[in-house]
Amino acid sequence: MRCPFCSFQDTKVIDSRLVAEGDQVRRRRECIECGERFTTFEGAELVMPRLIKKDGSRQPFDDQKLKAGILRAVEKRPVSVEDVEKAILKIQSKIRALGEREIESDVVGEMVMGALNQLDQVAYVRFASVYRRFQDVSDFSNEIEKLKSKN
Ligand SMILES: [Zn+2]
Repeated sequence: MRCPFCSFQDTKVIDSRLVAEGDQVRRRRECIECGERFTTFEGAELVMPRLIKKDGSRQPFDDQKLKAGILRAVEKRPVSVEDVEKAILKIQSKIRALGEREIESDVVGEMVMGALNQLDQVAYVRFASVYRRFQDVSDFSNEIEKLKSKN
């Protein structure tokens, strides 16, 4: 990486060790041009990416909104809170695994549909009908037909 003192493009690592109970790597670096030394810390990025809405605006990822959307879909359905929590954790780790700083809200919507499809098909269709804003009844019945043909 670039030297913060002289901006030279190349520095060498002279020491590397794990810190923060192994969650970070601390590196001592030396500039091969000016000889200055500096330290960098490297860790996994565990923050959720920001959401890019359809209109292009950005919002912080909201775990509560994700949960509320799923709970609304499974309302009065035979789906346990535990299964909902598990589905949410799975979606969150999938999103983190993408390693993006920003993701389209559609990507999250598709993940939620995938999770609901496995949990409960009525919940899936409920969510899909809101999420995809079905234009008319035929869109809706197409989705039902797709479900039927999968089984
Ligand atoms: Zn330098």
